[in-house]
Amino acid sequence: MVLDLDVVRDNYNAFARALPDTRVFYAVKANPSPEVLHLLATLGSCFDTASVVEIEMALAAGATSDRISFGNTIKKERDIARAFSLGIRLFAVDCVAEVDKIVRAAPGSKVFCRILCDGAGAEWPLSRKFGCVPEMAADVLEHAHRNGLEAYGVSFHVGSQQRNTEAWDQALASSAEIFRECAVRGMNLSMVNLGGGFPTKYLKEVPGVSRYGDSIFRALSKHFGNRLPETIIEPGRGMVGNAGLIESEVVLISKKSDNEDEVRWVYLDIGKFGGLAETMDESIRYPIRTRHDGDEMVPCVLAGPTCDSADVMYEKEPYMLPVSLSIGDKVLIEGAGAYTTTYSAVAFNGFPPLRSYVI
Ligand SMILES: *Cc1c(COP(=O)(O)O)cnc(C)c1O
Repeated sequence: MVLDLDVVRDNYNAFARALPDTRVFYAVKANPSPEVLHLLATLGSCFDTASVVEIEMALAAGATSDRISFGNTIKKERDIARAFSLGIRLFAVDCVAEVDKIVRAAPGSKVFCRILCDGAGAEWPLSRKFGCVPEMAADVLEHAHRNGLEAYGVSFHVGSQQRNTEAWDQALASSAEIFRECAVRGMNLSMVNLGGGFPTKYLKEVPGVSRYGDSIFRALSKHFGNRLPETIIEPGRGMVGNAGLIESEVVLISKKSDNEDEVRWVYLDIGKFGGLAETMDESIRYPIRTRHDGDEMVPCVLAGPTCDSADVMYEKEPYMLPVSLSIGDKVLIEGAGAYTTTYSAVAFNGFPPLRSYVI
């Protein structure tokens, strides 16, 4: 995987322009390479982290602790304590039990409550794993407030690779409602964390980031009137996805029978365990370039090289590849800068992890 830092810089600037009054907290998990973190720290980005190791990586890249949030809603209490000792004072919660851990391990910190969002329109939805129903958020925040934390705001994530620019509207309506309910209870919330979800280009075209900015600003004005909250975004995929390219080799092309109509199987030297984990459920469809582009195309099942039957990327919806593609050909997988290197297995089946080069 080769990652181009100039593209990351352009993406950062595009976010800053599209949402000028919003602070950017880059979601480190999308691509935590030190060069990316260092560049973003230099550009003024803040960082959304999910673990102590990610916090340490952001600090090592030059971010100060006041520019780092611990945004995972699922944290060991001793990791919260470690983050607190590193200076982190901003934490995500989605229930009273997590608030209690922060009260004990990071007293006085700011917390924001994550609410559920249905993820409609997203190609990589984030399910019901994170967040509480909006009606519960005021209780969670009030519990934090009564126990000496600062009830700071609300967060949500509209689902990753969100192609609907209007997807923020419903969650912002809920957020404004939570702000009102908290005000009634004597808490003045400050911040709405708009999460990630900004898409990168795979096979289908996606709206530009400025259209997301316009739509989000409209929704904020609609629901908060002239009392706009402080806002932050946490782009991951949209920051680094289009900056990365993977070179892979065709290991085998075969058919399962002599039948003329039988679909071809194309096996690459990368698969679900080598960095393309997001092909799970055939969710993310990467553009693949070959030196035969322009030749006649045929539907293919695309699979990885490991001895695991789950290591098939596209089968339900076969992938069109040139009929002239041959064993040994190199192919280029585009849009591979996000969620690839870190998802690649250490050595499943003896295949080494995906190497990454930053230019
Ligand atoms: C993964 C994640 C992000 C980044 O999401 P993208 O869709 O890649 O932009 C942002 N915030 C949180 C809390 C996350 O877990």
